Amino acid sequence: MAVFVGLDIGGTKIMVAAADHEGNILRRARTDTSTSLEADLANINSMIVEVAAAEEIMGMGAAIGGPLDWENGIVSPLHQPDWRNVPLKAMMEEKWGCPFHVDVDTNVAAIGEYRWGGFFAGRFLYLTLSTGMGGGFLTDGKIYRGQGGAHPEVGHQSIHFRCSNPTQVQCECGAPDCLEALVSGNGIRRIYGKSAEMLSPEEWEEVAYNLGQGLRNMATFYAPDIIRIGGGVALGGGENFIGAAKAVMEEGLKLVPAPHVALSGLGYDTALRGAIAMALPHENY
Ligand SMILES: [Zn+2]
Repeated sequence: MAVFVGLDIGGTKIMVAAADHEGNILRRARTDTSTSLEADLANINSMIVEVAAAEEIMGMGAAIGGPLDWENGIVSPLHQPDWRNVPLKAMMEEKWGCPFHVDVDTNVAAIGEYRWGGFFAGRFLYLTLSTGMGGGFLTDGKIYRGQGGAHPEVGHQSIHFRCSNPTQVQCECGAPDCLEALVSGNGIRRIYGKSAEMLSPEEWEEVAYNLGQGLRNMATFYAPDIIRIGGGVALGGGENFIGAAKAVMEEGLKLVPAPHVALSGLGYDTALRGAIAMALPHENY
């Protein structure tokens, strides 16, 4: 039997899975990300051997942090300093002899949720709230790309926020009042001095208010049918957190219809599932 391989190459862990032609996961492997490009590539290739289990590999897809050149598959993930201008597509196609597609992790997660989320949406926005924050937007099943292929950075929109410790609101990008600085795992740690799972109900309310302001902006600009939210912070906050943010969004939306907003249904596999979708034949995002 032929298999299709998906890779989720993250800053802390790398997951690899082999799937059948319908995208059902057959075997999977994971390891911690190292600080060396050479070691990461060796680990990736040995996990591919393991999950492929001697079956023919017909295609591969991969999710990795930006920035990257998605057409040529040249990657420089910001949080993996040893990976700079790596021609990943060319390297993998030469080694494995099959098509290889790579995209920014938040785009790939959006594809995973779109493909396997159990809904249809002509305009679909996916948001990841984890260490950082990002998103991917699909219109009629295709990833929206900006100027020259630029990835829109929804986490770096400026919002009108509420914060009990406003001097600690500092985005890693250097711009003021970024949404990511208020609702991401790193932002929460800087503002509240603890991880998201340790937040009090009042602090969660503040984070939900700020996320709601971001949702309001995104709903106003994109007018999407559905917004799904995943990543560790969103999954940790759960339905209450998402519900509170949604209420703030709805309160502020006057001119466009409110999108359906819900937690991701794919847990921590969203990007891995999207990478598998990209590996399948006849799927073009
Ligand atoms: Zn920023």
